[in-house]
Amino acid sequence: MLVVQKFGGTSVADPGRIARVAARIKGAVQDGHRVVVVVSAMGDTTDELLALAREVTRNPSPREIDMLMATGEQVSIALLTMALQAKDCDAISLTGAQAGITTDGIHTKGRIVDIDTARLRSELDRGRVVVVAGFQGVTPDGEITTLGRGGSDTTAVALAAALGAEVCEIYTDVDGVYTADPRLVPEARKLDVISHDEMLELASLGAVVLHPRAVELAKLYGVPLVVRSSFNDGPGTLIKEVGDLEKAAVVSGVAHDVNIAKISLFDVEDRPGIASRIFRELARSNINVDMIIQGAMRDGRNDIAFTVSRDDLSRALEAVHRIQGLVGAKGITFNDTLAKVSIVGAGMVSYPGVAATMFEGLAEAGINIAMISTSEIKVSCVISREEIERAVRALHMKFNLGEAPAGGPA
Ligand code: ADP
Ligand code: ASP
Ligand code: MG
Repeated sequence: MLVVQKFGGTSVADPGRIARVAARIKGAVQDGHRVVVVVSAMGDTTDELLALAREVTRNPSPREIDMLMATGEQVSIALLTMALQAKDCDAISLTGAQAGITTDGIHTKGRIVDIDTARLRSELDRGRVVVVAGFQGVTPDGEITTLGRGGSDTTAVALAAALGAEVCEIYTDVDGVYTADPRLVPEARKLDVISHDEMLELASLGAVVLHPRAVELAKLYGVPLVVRSSFNDGPGTLIKEVGDLEKAAVVSGVAHDVNIAKISLFDVEDRPGIASRIFRELARSNINVDMIIQGAMRDGRNDIAFTVSRDDLSRALEAVHRIQGLVGAKGITFNDTLAKVSIVGAGMVSYPGVAATMFEGLAEAGINIAMISTSEIKVSCVISREEIERAVRALHMKFNLGEAPAGGPA
């Protein structure tokens, strides 16, 4: 059978680990599988490249950022392929472009729009392991674009879908998906199974163990997706369609995101068209806006506040300053010392009081809430970044997430 295996940065952080990954891949080949491998850049390479760019200029252009970041994955595909060849395992490395991955033109936030699998299939037919650079693709005009931080997961699922692979395995530095980030919450529990919808929420709300778009594609194309450790043989976590809402946990996990910033516009005019002007201008700059709050109107004026990714803060501020006059805002401020904590659970919708329990949990920990947003399967609160670890732990405890749900598997 055909399998896609993706190895994250920590799993290929040094030559020793690259050799271990190569041995694992060779094992899959010896078991009779055809294997496509996706790798991330080694260790913290992507962060280091970004830091380097910022030493050159405070405001590097997104195109050149992509050009720079894409080199990280090119290093790891070459080294891993050499390690495979050294083990007498026939293999070839391919960049995103060589693997036929076409992306749209949004630099640093590209989306895969098409995969031409001809080259991949011909290499597989020659009995080779194909090692593809994650996180990158090329536009029809030949421009390299990357898929957003953590985007190698998405490359792997997209390849699995395009090739009709039996399974997409995401190998990482934890044993699977946990009820909260195990680095913050030692008592977090590994989940054996999680639904696409819950995983999508967790991933979108900051659980970096999977890239949100990877979960979306797995759901859309019915790709069986597993998160496993690259350091042991544990079964990991299966992400799949779980239909029965009745059985769903009220709260299945806590996610956190320290990469957010809030922008506030004061005293904007209270008339039709104001919000559309503000958010159209942000959309034009390809900035995703998360939470939005419009305060109570007084004297014909409103306050509007919203959150964006911290990476987008300076461009978002430029955008709102451009339209400040048009919307009559008397002031613009920002806060980049915030974080967001969220609870996720498909069963929440049928239990009133879940949000209240969350606010209680934060109150008991003496944590102040700056913004709130809810949906059928999540509640999010913006709080001070300094308090994020305490908040995640307090909520994990409040909802007893360390204990297996009654009747469920341990
Ligand atoms: P990789 O380099 O393999 O892609 P990442 O650092 O992107 O690895 O993702 C794995 C990390 O995700 C873990 O080390 C863990 O700290 C973090 N993480 C956050 N939330 C969760 C969660 N709910 N379950 C498991 N890991 C999580
Ligand atoms: N190397 C990229 C990053 O650090 C992509 C990935 O690891 O998935 O974001
Ligand atoms: Mg990752």
